[in-house]
Amino acid sequence: MKIVTTIKEMQTFSKQMLRSGKAIGFVPTMGYLHEGHMSLVEEAVKQNDCVIMSIFVNPLQFGPDEDFDRYPRDLKRDEELAKQAGVDVLFYPDVKDMYPKERTTRLTVQERVDTLCGDSRPGHFDGVATVVMKLLQIVLPDRAYFGMKDAQQVAVIKGLVEDYNVPVEVVPCPIIREEDGLAKSSRNVYLTPTERKEAIQLSRSLDVATKAIELGETDPVIIKDLIFSLLKQTSGKIDYVEVLSYPDLGNIEVMKGKIIIAVAVQFSAARLIDNKVTTSQEIAIGV
Ligand code: AMP
Repeated sequence: MKIVTTIKEMQTFSKQMLRSGKAIGFVPTMGYLHEGHMSLVEEAVKQNDCVIMSIFVNPLQFGPDEDFDRYPRDLKRDEELAKQAGVDVLFYPDVKDMYPKERTTRLTVQERVDTLCGDSRPGHFDGVATVVMKLLQIVLPDRAYFGMKDAQQVAVIKGLVEDYNVPVEVVPCPIIREEDGLAKSSRNVYLTPTERKEAIQLSRSLDVATKAIELGETDPVIIKDLIFSLLKQTSGKIDYVEVLSYPDLGNIEVMKGKIIIAVAVQFSAARLIDNKVTTSQEIAIGV
């Protein structure tokens, strides 16, 4: 596995790949890799000739009181895992190389951000859109892989790619979970043992909500109440519980078409998110 640390070298490498007709699959991450990240690599390996993974903890997407400084990092371990998973190039740029000077333009995400994490983390998706746009211009991939764990991020990036005609296929990948259902996340290491046990309520509440929908419940308010009652049993602070259309993330009055059920809970040192995207075909409701 090749390790690249400068933008110039990365772009030169990618241009050579493209000129020789090789398809590039790209997996952007913030590192501290786990099976969720690996599942994206697995998919990228299947569909491309060359797989590039980036590890970059992007300061722009963290708020002033968020966990940028203490975001978990372990490059040596990540290198080993990336190599084993079949990554061809690990791109590990420096913050000073990515943001060397005051920018002359600014990307602001207009839609799909006034709810969920966009509402609780102002400016977060502007930071995500900026770094993803930069990484796509540097890595020049044919396909880019994103986890549905961050379903709002997928919706925002799809919009970005459409708006700016970026010639890349955005490939959403399913959420990878621990055995008890907790969605894998780099931040799970910051849960106390008690919180770790409580954290299964996130996925459990989504399962219960799905079951209720399958049994015929069509009112999003009732679904949200059901989820609230389960999340309230944890010591965490509920950030949001939402049932929205997907990918537009608009409010809905009845469960119809593609919807997302999404939750976020702030524990003492980790904010966890989880979601389930489903369609009215999968759930037996009186459409
Ligand atoms: P991160 O390093 O947290 O920025 O995540 C990098 C990519 O991995 C994003 O596209 C995430 O959505 C994806 N990802 C993170 N956790 C999971 C998971 N449990 N299952 C699937 N994809 C994930």
